[in-house]
Amino acid sequence: MRYAETGFNLEIDLTRGNIERVETDPRDTELYLGGLGTNAKLLWERVPPEVEPFSPENLLIFSAGLLCGTPATGCNRTIVSTISPQTQLLAFSMMGGFWAPELKYAGYDKVVLRGKSPELVYIWIHNDKVEIRDAAHLRGKGAIETAELIRRELKEPKAQVAAIGLAGENRVYFASIEQGRSSASRGGIGAVMGDKGVKAIVVRGTKDIHLARPAEYIELCTEVLNYIKHREQHPIPGVMPILAGLGSPQEMKVHDEKWHTENFMWGNSRLRRKDFWNDEIAKKWTETLESSRQRLISCYNCPMKCGATLSLPGFPTYMMKCFSKLTYTMAAMSDLEFGLKIAQRATEYGVDAYSTPQVMAFALELYEAGILTDQDMAGLPTDNEERFFWLLDRIVRREGIGDVLADGTYWAARQIGKGAEAFAHNTIKKHEQLPLKLSMLNPIYFLMYSTGEKINITQIEGQFPQAPFPTKAEREEFVKDWIQVPDEKFKHYLLEWEPRGEKSMPFFPTVQMCCEIVDWMEKMHYIDDALGMCAGLSSFPLKPPYHIHNYPKFISAGAGFDMDEEQLTQAVKRYRTLVRAFNIRRGMRRKDDKPPENHWKKRFPELEKELLDTYYTFKGWNREGIPTRECLQELGLDYVVAEFEQRGIPMESDVEPSETAPAKAAPQ
Ligand code: SF4
Repeated sequence: MRYAETGFNLEIDLTRGNIERVETDPRDTELYLGGLGTNAKLLWERVPPEVEPFSPENLLIFSAGLLCGTPATGCNRTIVSTISPQTQLLAFSMMGGFWAPELKYAGYDKVVLRGKSPELVYIWIHNDKVEIRDAAHLRGKGAIETAELIRRELKEPKAQVAAIGLAGENRVYFASIEQGRSSASRGGIGAVMGDKGVKAIVVRGTKDIHLARPAEYIELCTEVLNYIKHREQHPIPGVMPILAGLGSPQEMKVHDEKWHTENFMWGNSRLRRKDFWNDEIAKKWTETLESSRQRLISCYNCPMKCGATLSLPGFPTYMMKCFSKLTYTMAAMSDLEFGLKIAQRATEYGVDAYSTPQVMAFALELYEAGILTDQDMAGLPTDNEERFFWLLDRIVRREGIGDVLADGTYWAARQIGKGAEAFAHNTIKKHEQLPLKLSMLNPIYFLMYSTGEKINITQIEGQFPQAPFPTKAEREEFVKDWIQVPDEKFKHYLLEWEPRGEKSMPFFPTVQMCCEIVDWMEKMHYIDDALGMCAGLSSFPLKPPYHIHNYPKFISAGAGFDMDEEQLTQAVKRYRTLVRAFNIRRGMRRKDDKPPENHWKKRFPELEKELLDTYYTFKGWNREGIPTRECLQELGLDYVVAEFEQRGIPMESDVEPSETAPAKAAPQ
């Protein structure tokens, strides 16, 4: 008997139309947990570095996390992994909603797609019956529209649908996979789905999931629910609204957007509007949100209601997902109503809400600078908001200049030339980042931005406050009930951390402390991505209900194998290192581990070098950022050692870096 997981993957060869139900090795679950962990193992074994993102040999894996479908609150994430067309590295984007639990109830932990379908198809998984069906009639349809059409066609209103829109069909490098209230957006995984000729994967399942020790598991779930209630009644004082509670309430519940609109950059991530938020704006934005919001909605088995259905005049009703409430608004320097309207169209097209607004604002900046000409932009409307709709339409269709922009700012700038590269200034590992430009180097964020392979800072940060509390009394209050810390020393780091003076950034927390803090934060995200837990209840917020002390109990009682904090830490280190090794095998090196050059105005090259050197050593990597032989062997990754040897990838700890990351300040 397999517990928590089903023990079976669906393997689909799209070229041949072959479908197999494959039993998986339970030992892999103990070593790599599930979700991202076992995805990484499959990709390591079956996708050598010579494989290009749009090659038939590239795999596209949809995985439910290990605990998805169990009664654990908020455990509903689908982890989609493939080679990203944008970064050329491993993409592992997550989506919430209902899809992953449904897949488990149908009897599978993963859907593994390989090859390419000669015609556009969708996959219909209904318990043991799995079909590849014609999707010619869905070509060009929106992602949400597609889901509705398929449900009607199958007469299955409860089927869960993960679909691409036009952007995925046309292999836009920042195309997403949409699932109603949620999406997997980073890394251009929708483009890989489109390249494989798959419009949608539709799931309906009615089987059970077994738990090893159900009574114990339910008790743990009850504790989590009680803690969620406690946190609802005790928001954290002195932090921005999104960090005061759990989940991502800034989406639809919170009207106060002072913090984001004044601290994030507008346009193509260049301009801060420091006094933007005033009473008039607050009133107008509140009215817009209240009048367009139909109802608040949650993902599967979660009380948090982070999302909402929205209805704006002249636009179909749709479900808003993470943070796109602001991204389009701020890129276009417009208002919330515009943002909510264009987000509807973007959701149907299926595009990433971080990259897309920046790409469009980038195009307009190039046009204003004379780098893109009237000829390039023939037909561009004069009205600002209409320009954004016009650009969006062209990008997803890959028409004219849209064909160039559809590759994202990094690749588009290189194709356009004439100085366009200077305008593509907000990428890490070739992928657009949050629109932030700050003053003083933050050593913790420096490490997260540089070494994070998830390519999204909100999927790396959390747990440790983003800034020091101003007074000692506030810090003492914060640490009082900080049960989530893996070690008491983290409380002392926070207590000592001052906004100014000797114990302030960039030299405090010290380099060693920064390494420990970043490692803790990253570890929690990687656990979530293997278990299928929403980061909004675990790795992202302060003082979450899931943490390093109760996760091992959930795994033991749910999946039925022994797990304590040390074993869990080792398992996470194993697949985190495997992700690193996978990207190293694809050519990633130290030179790629750097934030956008103008992310901070005040940079400290020596300190940054020390941070990176120390963090690499802390993680068991050499100075090139390559896991060392000792590290790999200690984690049982001997197969990685063998392949690194064969490929001549240096694992020695004293290897000299080929190029260090330049750390020069750029004009703001
Ligand atoms: S916290 Fe929000 S985003 Fe996370 S599972 Fe619950 S409703 Fe979904």
